[in-house]
Amino acid sequence: MIKKSIYEDYEINFSDTYTSDDAYYFIFNENRELLLENKELITDISEMNVNFSLFIGKYKNKDCFVVNSSFEKGFDLREVYEFNKDLYLMGTKAVLVNDWYISHQFCGRCGAKTQIDEKDMMLKCPECGQMHYPRIAPAIIVAIRNEDKLLMAQHSYHETIRYALIAGFVEPGESIEEAVHREVSEEVGIKIKNLKYLKSQSWPFPNSLMLAFEAEYESGDIKVDGDEIVKAKWFKKDEIIRYSSDISISDWLIQRFIDTY
Ligand SMILES: [Zn+2]
Repeated sequence: MIKKSIYEDYEINFSDTYTSDDAYYFIFNENRELLLENKELITDISEMNVNFSLFIGKYKNKDCFVVNSSFEKGFDLREVYEFNKDLYLMGTKAVLVNDWYISHQFCGRCGAKTQIDEKDMMLKCPECGQMHYPRIAPAIIVAIRNEDKLLMAQHSYHETIRYALIAGFVEPGESIEEAVHREVSEEVGIKIKNLKYLKSQSWPFPNSLMLAFEAEYESGDIKVDGDEIVKAKWFKKDEIIRYSSDISISDWLIQRFIDTY
C-alpha cells in the first residue's frame, strides 16, 4: 500500500474559486475507468463531450477536476497503481467523487432533483432538505496470530483465489472493535484477545475504508460457516502464498506478520 498522504500532492477545495485554464482532469467512464493519454492525465477537455465536470481542488499545484464522459476503454485504478502510484492515490479520491455525483442526482428520500452545494461536496434536496454526502463504508480486516502462525480463510466468492485475512463490513450501531470480534466469531468461530488498531486505507472498490487490526488467538476451535467462508487454517510465514500486488492493506498486514514473526 502507498505510505504517502494524499495531501502531499492535493489541496482539498470544493468551492467554485478556480481561475486558471491549466488543469488536470480525472476523467471516468460508466465503468469507473480512468482516461489517460500515454499513461498520463488529460490536460485539455475542450474537444470532449462531458457529462459533468466538478472542481475538487489543487493537484500538484494545478486546478483539478473530476469529469465524467463516455469512452470505451480506460484504465482500472488497480492497473494504474502498478505504473503510477501518485496517480492511483489521487484517482481513489476522484472516483469516489464521480460515484457520489452520479448516484445522488435525485433525493433518495423524496425523489426530487438535487442541487449541488456551493462550498461542500454535498448535494442538497430543495424539496425536503435532505443532504447527500459521499458514502464511505467502513470495513475491518484483522491479522490473527497464534504464536508463529497467521489465521487465513478462503472466502466462497473467491474460491479460485488463495487464502485471505478475516475481513468484513462494520454494521450499524457497533464500534469497529465490536465489528472485529463479531466477524471473527461469525467467520471462524474463535475468540481473540489483545486487539490493536494499526492503520487504515481508502479502498474504493467500490467505496470502503479499510481499518486494519492485529489480534492474538485466545480460545476455541476453527469452525467455518461453510457459506461465506469455505476453509480456514493457521499458516506459518513460509506457507503463505503472497498476492501478486502490494496495493492493499491486506498485503501490508501479511508482510508485517512475515517481517515480525
Ligand atoms: Zn428530498
